[in-house]
Order: sequence, then C-alpha cells, then structure tokens
Amino acid sequence: MPQMPNVPSGRGYLAIPGPSVMPEAVLSAMHRPAPNIYAGELPEMMPGIVADLKRVARTDGHVAIYIANGHGVWEASLANVIAPGDKVLVPSTGHFGMGWAGMAEGLGAEVEVIDFGKAAPMEMAPIAEALAADTMHRIKAVLAVHVDTSSSARNDIAALRATLDAAGHPALLMADCIASLGCDVFEMDAWGVDVMVAGCQKGLMVPPGVGFVFFNNKAADVRAAMPRVSNYWDWHPRAEPDDFWQYWNGTAPTHHIYGLRAALDLIHAEGMEAVWARHERLARAIWAACDAWGREGSLRMNMADPKDRSRAVTSLRLDPPLASDLRAWTEAHLGLTLGIGLGMVDKADPAWHGHFRLGHMGHVNGQMIMGLLGGMEAGMCALNIPHGPGALAAAAAVIGEVSA
Ligand SMILES: *Cc1c(COP(=O)(O)O)cnc(C)c1O
Repeated sequence: MPQMPNVPSGRGYLAIPGPSVMPEAVLSAMHRPAPNIYAGELPEMMPGIVADLKRVARTDGHVAIYIANGHGVWEASLANVIAPGDKVLVPSTGHFGMGWAGMAEGLGAEVEVIDFGKAAPMEMAPIAEALAADTMHRIKAVLAVHVDTSSSARNDIAALRATLDAAGHPALLMADCIASLGCDVFEMDAWGVDVMVAGCQKGLMVPPGVGFVFFNNKAADVRAAMPRVSNYWDWHPRAEPDDFWQYWNGTAPTHHIYGLRAALDLIHAEGMEAVWARHERLARAIWAACDAWGREGSLRMNMADPKDRSRAVTSLRLDPPLASDLRAWTEAHLGLTLGIGLGMVDKADPAWHGHFRLGHMGHVNGQMIMGLLGGMEAGMCALNIPHGPGALAAAAAVIGEVSA
C-alpha cells in the first residue's frame, strides 16, 4: 500500500466524503489484464449487475449506466426529461443542491430555487406553496438532493413525495443520492421517486468513473414525449440494450465493471438493512464524540438535529483556522485525511479554515471510526484545541452497544 506523506508505516484512512475507501476485494477484482468486450465474461456479467444495482436502490424500475462522475449523471438525468424552457423547482440545502440547479440552468431550464440555507433540511411548507402557486403545472420536475454532502443535511424524500401528491402536482420527483446510496436508508419505489442519480465512488466503494440514473415508467413516458434527446445521454438504449456496447454507448469501462461486481457482492452479502444499520451506528458514534468535544471549545456539528443528519458524512465547524490546522496535523502525523469544508464560505475567506467534514461512507467499520475519532482527539491535544472530555468513551459506548 502507498503510504501517506510523512507517515512511515501503517495504513492511511482517507476519511473524506468521496471518493471513499476501496475494499481489497474491489481493488483485486480490478487488477487484471484487459478483458474482451465482445464476448465472454464481461458482457455476461451485466444482467446480474443491473439487477443488483436495483436491489441497492430498492426499485423494480430501470437503470442507465454512464461512464461519468456525479456531475455527469446530473446532466444525464436532466437531458432525458428537461428541454430548454422547461421549468424545474430546486429545494436546496447546500452546495450540491445549487450545483444541480446550475446544471439545469445551463441546459436552458427555467429554475426556481427555494434556498433552505447551509445548516437546515428542507421544510415542506414553502415547497407546497410553490407547487400550489404553479396552477398551470409548468414545473416539470423537482430536483432534490437526499444528502447534501456540503452541509451534511439529510432530507425527507418521502415527505417530498407526499407534498407533491397533496398538491396534486404531476412534476417528476428527482433525487440525488450520490452521497447517500448504500449508506442512508433510501427506498426509491416505496418513496415514489421517479428519477434517482448516484455515482460509484461513495457508498458503492468503487473508484470514481461510473454513474447511474434510475428511472421509473412515469419518467420513461416523459422521456418519450421529449422533442429530442442527445444520443449520448439517452437513457433508453442503455437501460434496454440489444447489445453489450449499448449499455455504455461505446467502449465499456472494463475494470470498473469488475470492481462494481465485487462491491455489489460485498453489499448484498452484508444485506441492505445491515449496511444501513452499520452506517447508522457509526454515525451515532461520531455524533456522540462530537457532542462530548463540543461541551468545551468551539467544535460543532453543522446539523443540529440528529434526524436531519446524514449517516455518511458529517460537516463540522471549529474556530478558524483550527479546522485546517487539525486536518493538516492528522494527515501529516497519522495518515488520516479529513475532508475540507465545501460550499459553506468562499475559499478566499479566512472563515473557510473553520469548516471540515468527515466521510464515513461505504467500506468503514467500528475500528476505523474509533481510529478516526482517536486521531482527531490526538490532533486537538497536539494543537491545544480546546475540547470537552469523554469523546472516545462516548463513541465506544455506541459502537459497543448490544443490539436489541
Ligand atoms: C459527490 C456528490 C456530487 C458530485 O459528484 P462528482 O462525482 O464529484 O461529480 C453531487 N451530489 C452529491 C450529493 C454528492 O455527494
């Protein structure tokens, strides 16, 4: 394993909210000579991968797969259902909500943003108001980020569906689960989500490079009524290919397919409910430690209420420049890389050095989280950053809880 800078031995932990830690099983599955893309194992693997992806998303609908990062599937999803001049509603809870809105605008959509700020979840009342005001049903889609990775806000997507239904509004419900899929509980069909986008490099534990657009029949009908859809982004042949190349509209990402197969095997061997429960428990351990630290000194979780917090990423504040100092110390001395703050304040603003994030998504377990928290505590001691006592004991108590 390559070592972290200045750390002579032991494994590093990249505790940033994506790309996430890659399992050995994924790495070794990808370590192979170039496979044939015209026949044999690779094409034969695809139906199983599609089925297993849908089990992660909890949908019987369709999935189109792209050689793309999260931004790529943002565009892919919009390209299939939004034509220039169409209107979208974006309830935003951070940097990524604004990012998806900006992408829609760049594609010629009329965008109405409801900005819930950078430390709060969506509230349904203003959304219901915007839907009720849209008597002509011009809003064609509501773009909702499930977990905004900048603020670490987790939004109630089922409540959003209920709000659309109560308004009798036909807009598509589109969800960004790039940070949450395979971490936070998500039920595409049960929650009435029409389109969902995700990437492979967060909860799915594969290096960045493949993205997914899940969609149901209602969204497929909207796609069919579009005046035109770009040939490359068109989800239809990708979701219903006659030939292997059509899954990708060209050369397949050969090694990613093997990595994804290995990751899906890990997820389903553990079981979706168990994967969610593990993320839940590890997140609660992190919160318990942060609560204890925060009793003295300036460390605070960005999301005050546990019900609004992601189970995959935690956004934190610490008086500037202490957040940046802590990140630098743990990386240099421990091989522990914490995430930068994102989208909270401008990078040129000195306050930027007061924000940071912890990634706890995908291939993580209790000893890694105890290492992460122990490393942070060591850094706070080394740098004389004021903090309350008992954080590690509080976290250990959560991790050591006997399940009911
Ligand atoms: C990471 C992320 C994105 C962007 O994904 P990229 O792969 O960086 O393009 C979008 N939305 C959310 C919620 C994310 O966490």
